Amino acid sequence: MSYRPISSIWKNNISDLIETFEIWWEKLSELIPEKGCDVFFRADDIGYPGKQFSAMIEVFQKNKVPLALAVVPTWVNQTRVQKLYETLGPDMSLWCLHQHGYKHTNQEKVGKKFEFGPSRDIKKVLAELTKGKLKMNKLLGNDMCQIFTPPWNRCTEETMTTLRELGFIAISRSINVAPFPLKGLPDLPINIDLHTIKEKNPEAGILNLMDQIENAVQTDYAGFMLHHQRMNKTSVRFLDFLLARIAETPSLRIQDMRDMLPK
Ligand SMILES: [Zn+2]
Repeated sequence: MSYRPISSIWKNNISDLIETFEIWWEKLSELIPEKGCDVFFRADDIGYPGKQFSAMIEVFQKNKVPLALAVVPTWVNQTRVQKLYETLGPDMSLWCLHQHGYKHTNQEKVGKKFEFGPSRDIKKVLAELTKGKLKMNKLLGNDMCQIFTPPWNRCTEETMTTLRELGFIAISRSINVAPFPLKGLPDLPINIDLHTIKEKNPEAGILNLMDQIENAVQTDYAGFMLHHQRMNKTSVRFLDFLLARIAETPSLRIQDMRDMLPK
């Protein structure tokens, strides 16, 4: 896998970070609408077991917070899945394992990165999505949720139509991304990026994260995106603080992604 840089915010000192967010939390609490705010977490690029993956999972287990895990089909095999289960199990109820693209490679020569973008032949898209789905079903069985997170949080409308035809029940992209979600394939987008933001410096990183969370809660919907490959010790400890702080805030309702689907 390629080198994955750590965002500047996680180069701050952990005690400074916690102190700053602790003081800010009072301001945040006042911004949450009266009816409260749903909160959920989605971790992308899952497939390879390892220390960073285990560290992220331990924080969710410790805080008993559900996490949607977006798994790349070509990154997993029987051995890796067994290792993932050793970390996740035996109680699998917190995890919404679902499909993240097929190979997770950029297929566009120009413009934004897409795995399933405008230059793709729809027959190939169908073939890859089907292969990915079958493989995930075989390896994960009933633990697999029929939800799809497209790499880089975007895909074409044709791809969404194909996903719906294949029996996927929802998609998860980022907030306000085009095209509109399809009827029968609701979008549960993320609107807070914890680990892949490029910031000028550690201080700018703090303001950026605060800004993202403030904007999200005011819309009564906060979806956090995580990338364990880009987590250092500071971001692991901050995640533990964040989950505990959210759980202690009654107006923030931690949700399992599966429970957020329109009934
Ligand atoms: Zn990804």
